[in-house]
Amino acid sequence: MQAEQDDHKSDIELSNGPGGFHPLFSSPDGDVVLGSKERVLFRVHSYTLKTTSGWFRAMYSLPQKSAAASGDVPPDTIYVDEDAPTLEGLLRMVCGLPIPRLDAYDVIEPILHAAEKYDMSGPMSIVRALVVTPPLLSDPLRLYAIACRYGWQDEALMASRYTLTLDLHAPEHRGTLQKLGTDALLSLFQLHRTRRETLRRRLDDPPFVNDGGDTSCSNCGSLVDYHTWRELKYVIIMEMDGRPLGDTVCSPGLLEWPAARACWSAKCINCDRVLYDKTLTMRVIRECIEQLPTTIE
Ligand SMILES: [Zn+2]
Repeated sequence: MQAEQDDHKSDIELSNGPGGFHPLFSSPDGDVVLGSKERVLFRVHSYTLKTTSGWFRAMYSLPQKSAAASGDVPPDTIYVDEDAPTLEGLLRMVCGLPIPRLDAYDVIEPILHAAEKYDMSGPMSIVRALVVTPPLLSDPLRLYAIACRYGWQDEALMASRYTLTLDLHAPEHRGTLQKLGTDALLSLFQLHRTRRETLRRRLDDPPFVNDGGDTSCSNCGSLVDYHTWRELKYVIIMEMDGRPLGDTVCSPGLLEWPAARACWSAKCINCDRVLYDKTLTMRVIRECIEQLPTTIE
């Protein structure tokens, strides 16, 4: 992202800075001038704007006023709220120029915002095609927020699946979660919770022992204390709470956690038989995790 910003800076410096023309958009053929927030000027064809932007099409359909007589402002300059990198990105796309690098949220979010504002479906579709690439997928929560914001259903489902490695309750996610609409937020929390709770319930069903009353050794029939299993169950659920993907439960979890080691070595105090079948336990847990829902509904 830093490189991208530097690129933009150098482009702008090639022109005359604020008030000068962006080098890619300085052709005198253009009949309209757009000015960025920093007053970098972009000369383009009004035909391009009219055919690629519902907003400009509507604007040009109105009777055109003569420009305000404000001295040094060229008559056809339209100043917009977007900064120069955003305006450059947008205009590159609608003018058929090489598109900018769209691999950071700080680049694509303002472009999407502007594309929506100016009713430009072209740039919107270009960004949409690129959001499922690795650099942007690496922040699935932000991708989920964007996909929900713009109604991209497939991308929202996919992003929700990628959030399963995240602990939504971690403070660093608060800012992104605050950008979500209520439905999108609840769906995501429900997905994460459903995975944890489904596994939790499964751990109370056979072949697992549950907390309902006393249990006896399957070999000698004497009463057995199952606290090692209860402790392991707790550790498994806490792991699912912090990382609902559950990929760390079977490995390293059930192989290496102290609570797991204690379980696998627990024996009946009367007949010395091992209490828990490690292979069966791991298989059932793995199968349960594999069947959990992976995306929002
Ligand atoms: Zn026994």
